[in-house]
Amino acid sequence: MIIDYRDVRKHDGVLAKHEQVLVPEVAKTHTQVENVSPLDVRVNAQLVNHLCKVEGTVKYSVTYLCTRCLESFVAHQETELFEEFTEDKNQVTEEVHHAPDGIAVLDPWIEQSLNLDLEFFPVCRSDCRGLCPVCGINRNEHECNCDVRTVDPRLGVLSDLLSTDESE
Ligand SMILES: [Zn+2]
Ligand SMILES: [Zn+2]
Repeated sequence: MIIDYRDVRKHDGVLAKHEQVLVPEVAKTHTQVENVSPLDVRVNAQLVNHLCKVEGTVKYSVTYLCTRCLESFVAHQETELFEEFTEDKNQVTEEVHHAPDGIAVLDPWIEQSLNLDLEFFPVCRSDCRGLCPVCGINRNEHECNCDVRTVDPRLGVLSDLLSTDESE
């Protein structure tokens, strides 16, 4: 998605734009993400002197793999976009990006806000019971009779220390 300063000027300095943006690479860089739908991006671009201020929303659907039960599920998410661009290379800062020849390319910034918006440990539902650590059955769907009492490794060390103390 690009914002051309000339288009914004044609619209008296304020331009609304609505586009579908494809992000085929995003799912590949997140193991917990199976698929990301085309992004529905709506922005308003405003020219203030040499600064182009772009703000808008990014709506999309994402297919996650639940980190507890490994089943896939779909979530609908929305994130916001605030970016500033300048034609003048000397005015570029950490917050103000360069728009050479008055062409602001939004895609890397859209992708960045998407990466920040994606869940790192998605769960299909808050009470997902996950997989049995012994037999691997999906405990949302089936019961099993495995003994899943596990000792926290730190407590294991502690009980070793205690038993050493007792023998002294
Ligand atoms: Zn789950
Ligand atoms: Zn089991």
